Amino acid sequence: MINLEPQTLKRMVRNVFSTRPDEIGCDECFEQLDRFVEMTLAGKNAAEAMPLVQDHMARCRECREEFEALLQALRTLA
Ligand SMILES: [Zn+2]
Repeated sequence: MINLEPQTLKRMVRNVFSTRPDEIGCDECFEQLDRFVEMTLAGKNAAEAMPLVQDHMARCRECREEFEALLQALRTLA
């Protein structure tokens, strides 16, 4: 039997049932996605400038695919 500290347990439960306050959802990610793509195309460090978008895409396959499709489309146009 693992002896868990109440504090550790509380943190685990919070991680499972709620998102961190600094996390963004798909809608918010999508809103900022074009800016993120623009920065990436401009050779800027978009991940550093918009860490929340980066963070969301690391966890959300849908938004990551959206980002890649958008990036691809803009590269084709350029
Ligand atoms: Zn998403």
